[in-house]
Amino acid sequence: MEGRNHSSAVFIAAGSVSRMKADLLNCSRDLLASVQPRAAIRSLSGGTQRKTPHIGVIGAGLAGLRCAEVLIDGGARVTVLEALDRIGGRIHQSRLLDQSVDMGPNWVHRTDDNPVLKIAQKTNTQLCAAQDTMHVFESDGTIMPPDLAASGLETVWEFIEDAFKYSNEACLDISPDLTLKDFFRKKLAESSLSDHQKARVLLLGEMWGSFIGDSWERQSLRWFWLEECLDGENHAPIIQHVAAKVLTHATLHLSTLVTNITTIETTTSDPKITVTTTNGTFSFDEVVVAVPLDCLKSSKPIFDPPLPPAILRAVANASYSSLEKVYIAFPTAFWDSASDSSSEPFPSFAHFLHPEYVPTSQTHFNIEMVPLSSPSIFGPAATPTLLLYTHNPCAAHVSSLIRNFPPASEEYFTVLNDFFRPYYSRLPNYIAGAADCTPVAILATDWHADDLAGNGAYTNFQVGEGDGAEEVRLDEDVRAMRAGLPERGVWFAGEHTAPFVALGTTTGAY
Ligand SMILES: Cc1cc2nc3c(=O)[nH]c(=O)nc-3n(C[C@H](O)[C@H](O)[C@H](O)COP(=O)(O)OP(=O)(O)OC[C@H]3O[C@@H](n4cnc5c(N)ncnc54)[C@H](O)[C@@H]3O)c2cc1C
Repeated sequence: MEGRNHSSAVFIAAGSVSRMKADLLNCSRDLLASVQPRAAIRSLSGGTQRKTPHIGVIGAGLAGLRCAEVLIDGGARVTVLEALDRIGGRIHQSRLLDQSVDMGPNWVHRTDDNPVLKIAQKTNTQLCAAQDTMHVFESDGTIMPPDLAASGLETVWEFIEDAFKYSNEACLDISPDLTLKDFFRKKLAESSLSDHQKARVLLLGEMWGSFIGDSWERQSLRWFWLEECLDGENHAPIIQHVAAKVLTHATLHLSTLVTNITTIETTTSDPKITVTTTNGTFSFDEVVVAVPLDCLKSSKPIFDPPLPPAILRAVANASYSSLEKVYIAFPTAFWDSASDSSSEPFPSFAHFLHPEYVPTSQTHFNIEMVPLSSPSIFGPAATPTLLLYTHNPCAAHVSSLIRNFPPASEEYFTVLNDFFRPYYSRLPNYIAGAADCTPVAILATDWHADDLAGNGAYTNFQVGEGDGAEEVRLDEDVRAMRAGLPERGVWFAGEHTAPFVALGTTTGAY
């Protein structure tokens, strides 16, 4: 997801448009319902408007805040319960030296009329359009000659487009075990490419891992069409804007972990939902549960009675990406210093694929990198910092390295620097031991360790999910979550309940 930097023209597969369109139409119907909350709230209060309904929103991430805003606009009394001591959830920034860095999302994935993009524009949030340029570091650490990379990438995007089309058209006829990599293998076997060219395409295909936050060997071919509509533009959080109404018109309880939601199915009892928290007990007419997918797992039961099988199945069948980010700040952007005036600037993206140059003790993990140093992209916010993306198994490995060390400690800096030096030392102009090429600060995310973020990054579509007892139908599962439990007054919100085109993104959460 993070590196979805390619042009959308490459990605919109004609065969998939109808499905996307249908999905968008459903989505706009759903949105229509949600932007007419007055009607919904009137029916909630028995159509008489005698009583203002009191609605509990659990989770103050983007979805919970937006939901609260819509409910307030509809005339409800809203109380938001958030376990953290801040709002925003996975949209969060930390300090790295004197800069503020995004620990969670920083790309807006464009769908038509993207509301998040509109808020970013309204709030004068700096938008940076990354260029469609890329270096590919080969297994031996050298930069792949641009012409070979370009022709290999052309085949990769061609296959990706074919995979979207096939996945969209054949969906349920595709074996649930098949992965995107299997599709590539089949296409390559049918192609007339040389063995060298085939090997290069297979190597370049690995990049897909950083687009979805997981290995492409886990990307389900059957559900690959759901990954469509990919494109990105950098953005900074828009949380404060969305939270404005909540902060003035709702009651917000921070540091309030919800431990139990007891519902009574009745039309007469008043109120009918009791929410137990670490900060007291609350009574509501209805609740919207806007916590991450993983927090709904049956292994973490907070519902009494338990969630019905359809919802539990939906939660169990969905998968969650493992994306993590690492910021490495240097005194200067040594990779950008042109040795002669004819040198091209360093591209927007770099992929380190099958790095055999890392120490033998270190597995050959693929990594994606975005330098934040280009003034032409980042303007005054340009900084001599590298942003690296990892996904499992690398992400879990890096998390395990830092787990016992506070970010300010020397050990934290040293383990991260030792791990990433083999990668950044491949950049142009690197001189071992030179002050300019020695990091001054490093900061890594550790969503793996964060129970309240669902111990991962966002919903994605992997093979081998579910208990295998029945056919996995992700489309039905998402619909079940979107439908909620009206009879119990329980509703769900969050990126995992979004229309397919925005599933797993901030746009979906909104
Ligand atoms: C590293 C990373 C990179 C990402 N990159 C992108 C990107 O570039 N573009 C993009 O569009 N999306 C990206 N995403 C995904 C994006 O962050 C999410 O889709 C979105 O922020 C989810 O919002 P949400 O409101 O659904 O969930 P959250 O933001 O997770 O909010 C849920 C809230 O519920 C609270 N909570 C949980 N359990 C309880 C409980 N029991 N009681 C009370 N409160 C509870 C949590 O503390 C949290 O505040 C990224 C995510 C990560 C982690």
